[in-house]
Amino acid sequence: MSDLVDKLVCENLKTLKPYESARRLFSGGQHWLNANESPFANEYELSSDVLNRYPDCQPETVIGAYAAYAGVEKSQTLTTRGADEGIELLIRAFCEPGQDAILQCLPTYGMYAISAETCNVGVVNVPLKSDFTLDIDGILAQKGKVKLIFLCAPNNPTGTTLAREQITTILDAFADSALVVVDEAYIEFDMDNTWAPAISDYPNLVVLRTLSKAFALAGIRCGFTLANEPVIKALLKVIAPYPVPAPVAQIAEQALSEDSAATLRGQIAELNTQKAWLVSELRKISDVEIVGDTRANFILFRYPLKQALMDYLVAQGMLIRDQSKQLSLENCLRISIGNEQQNRLFISLFEAFIQTLEQDS
Ligand SMILES: *Cc1c(COP(=O)(O)O)cnc(C)c1O
Repeated sequence: MSDLVDKLVCENLKTLKPYESARRLFSGGQHWLNANESPFANEYELSSDVLNRYPDCQPETVIGAYAAYAGVEKSQTLTTRGADEGIELLIRAFCEPGQDAILQCLPTYGMYAISAETCNVGVVNVPLKSDFTLDIDGILAQKGKVKLIFLCAPNNPTGTTLAREQITTILDAFADSALVVVDEAYIEFDMDNTWAPAISDYPNLVVLRTLSKAFALAGIRCGFTLANEPVIKALLKVIAPYPVPAPVAQIAEQALSEDSAATLRGQIAELNTQKAWLVSELRKISDVEIVGDTRANFILFRYPLKQALMDYLVAQGMLIRDQSKQLSLENCLRISIGNEQQNRLFISLFEAFIQTLEQDS
């Protein structure tokens, strides 16, 4: 950094490293199985008639369609630039910089901590237990010390869900002191476990959703925060005046329409079929251990030669995600479920990699 920037930049940002998104880490390659995106690119129609006008802050059609899809009220629905913006708005609306803290359960999604740090808000870590369930006692011990509790189910990158009783315990214990945010970015792959319909029962429950994963729309940056109206009203105080570009609203509305529902269901079913195939193929490879569960559109696995495998795959244009720096995930890699051709390519490259080892020995 320049001397001037060094002198001016906020204290809490001096040591902060930006989120290492899959796209920042590697932009080359042809086969992207590293960001839990959908392999399907669906078609949409755009109208440029309204592009001279500022869009609605909260486009009625999008809010209405998503509320209906999620089974909540429109007044309980906020749309944002990806679920990531929902995370940031929650922190900005509910945590005093330099004073308050969020709670997260590692290993988990990296943006909770990064968003907190950029806002100069503390991060309390209560790691998941070795079986990736919540450490309830550890979380309850933080009562009064945290304002937001981020739970991720299905969890990225472990693919595990969280027991309903555990979440209920936390919602009750923190009823007067914290919002409990259940990040459901991958809920379409584990629909039975959604918390959205419970929102009316818990004033401190927040659910995060996105169109980036099952809906195959990571490129438009559209997410949703579901919560009771008082929470939504607080978030509306900090959101930008025009967060949803008109083309995004047009595409989101089409993706949430009746016409798209069957396509979406078909693509989820196809990804689940592909996932089952990949799991069975990975199980055949010696020294591969599937880690956690597979309730999302990715598989986490441990492999002792993970670095050599990653290097080999990168050289072949196949990108998956290294998760080995995360707590308890030594030697773990995460592969997002691609289309049939990509998944087959991944397995054949893995087999070819093992061949190179055998040749060397
Ligand atoms: C991908 C992801 C998000 C962010 O989704 P966007 O809507 O693309 O910002 C949020 N939470 C988890 C757990 C994710 O994996």
